[in-house]
Amino acid sequence: MKQTENWQDNENLDPADWASARERMHRMVDDAIDYLSTLRDRPVWQPMPETIPPHFHQPLPHGPEDPQHIDEELKAYILPYTMGNVHPRFWAWYMGAGTVSGVIGDFWASVLNPNLGGGQQSSNLVEAQVIDWLKEIMHYPMEASGILVSGGSMANLVGLAVARHHMSGFDIRLEGMTGTNPMVVYASQEVHSSVQKAIELMGMGSRFLHKVPVLADYTMDVSALEAMIKRDRAAGLHPIAVIGTAGTINTGAIDDLDGLANLCKSENLWFHVDGAIGSIAMLSPLVQPQLKGIERADSVTIDLHKWLHMPFEVACTLVRNATNHRETFSLIPDYLARNTRGLAAGHLWFSEYGIQLSRRFRALKVWMSLKEHGADAFGRMISKNIHQAHYLGRRIDEHPHLELVAPIGLDIVCFRYNPGNRSLTELNNVNKEIKLQLEEQGIAAPGYTTLGEMYCLRIAIANHRSQLADFDALISAIEELGHKVVASQ
Ligand SMILES: *Cc1c(COP(=O)(O)O)cnc(C)c1O
Repeated sequence: MKQTENWQDNENLDPADWASARERMHRMVDDAIDYLSTLRDRPVWQPMPETIPPHFHQPLPHGPEDPQHIDEELKAYILPYTMGNVHPRFWAWYMGAGTVSGVIGDFWASVLNPNLGGGQQSSNLVEAQVIDWLKEIMHYPMEASGILVSGGSMANLVGLAVARHHMSGFDIRLEGMTGTNPMVVYASQEVHSSVQKAIELMGMGSRFLHKVPVLADYTMDVSALEAMIKRDRAAGLHPIAVIGTAGTINTGAIDDLDGLANLCKSENLWFHVDGAIGSIAMLSPLVQPQLKGIERADSVTIDLHKWLHMPFEVACTLVRNATNHRETFSLIPDYLARNTRGLAAGHLWFSEYGIQLSRRFRALKVWMSLKEHGADAFGRMISKNIHQAHYLGRRIDEHPHLELVAPIGLDIVCFRYNPGNRSLTELNNVNKEIKLQLEEQGIAAPGYTTLGEMYCLRIAIANHRSQLADFDALISAIEELGHKVVASQ
């Protein structure tokens, strides 16, 4: 029975009893600490029993449920079956492990619940502070602008939108994609799929995302790029931007950013760096020299829920020229008109620098975390992961049945089990099965990719909880599983 009409003036959505809400939230904190302090005692991931999915096919609850019952449901049906990326042996795809400091920041962001679209409020100052810190980390000019967004995909879209707006040569906001000579964007063959999505969404056509061949180390062949630009110009196309990747998703390769910056300067092209993986490694003295040139980019993507371990979702786009940035997105209707006094005053209106109007206070967790740990601690965790990647690489090299299949880039190790005398297809199947069993037995969550035709395990160690013993455990498990899988084939 729906009960939607008999409202009372004093009814609201606050707890009827603040004391029991307080108790419930105290219990929640205890449960969360129990969960995070005992991660190692549980499997990385586990398949869901058949009873779980049907639990999420219930009718809309019209009436209230006992909060305690809801919390029990969370613990029984949701908590054990999430992705597992908080676990010390999760190395799949590329994602951060989360932090307690981030949880505290996100909690307060929900409690205060401000809208970061703009206005005169302290929350905007926090976001501006975080962006300033990121400029400092990237050796970027302080007069540059930036915005926090949901993730690397959105950060790339924002950066490329500014590139397109500034480079089009006409008022693209008014005219749309009506020009006669198509705009071309260049990136290496290893470019992340989010870039293609952005190009498609902006109506530029993925046909005009020209992919440049890579060298043996999976970095962009800059001289091939140069030739492509010349050829495209001769054919009447309109090259506008080059995307350098700082840490490719497959192998962690870092393009020659300085070389690309030089080329973009001489060819008058926008230089965007997709640094979703690697840009934050500016915090590690091990990596910083390899990122030389990032400070010269016109726009940079930094993904903070990856190697900075912030709880999802948060990333940043930095844009060197603040005017270019604002002109791409700013739109101020009457209902958002600025005042000189009161709530609608202030100069920090982030809604003028991106797609979202209403925005979460995602800066708070970053601000609180960078203060609590200090930026150097995050740099140490990055250096630690790189050291671990090379340790794993050495263990693979020493092992008669394991082989590296790509150079180790940053914290990404691609390898496969290969006992010899098997065809490519057989080896691909063996390695797929090893990966599945590692997951299903809760031992580890390795990533995977295909390089050339070769299926391989891909260990991406963006994990501050991993220790060397975890990689020893991985090698032992693969040894054992590999032997069994080959024997059963
Ligand atoms: C992960 C990744 C992205 C996309 O970031 P999301 O936060 O997942 O949206 C973009 N580029 C690269 C190189 C990435 O690794």
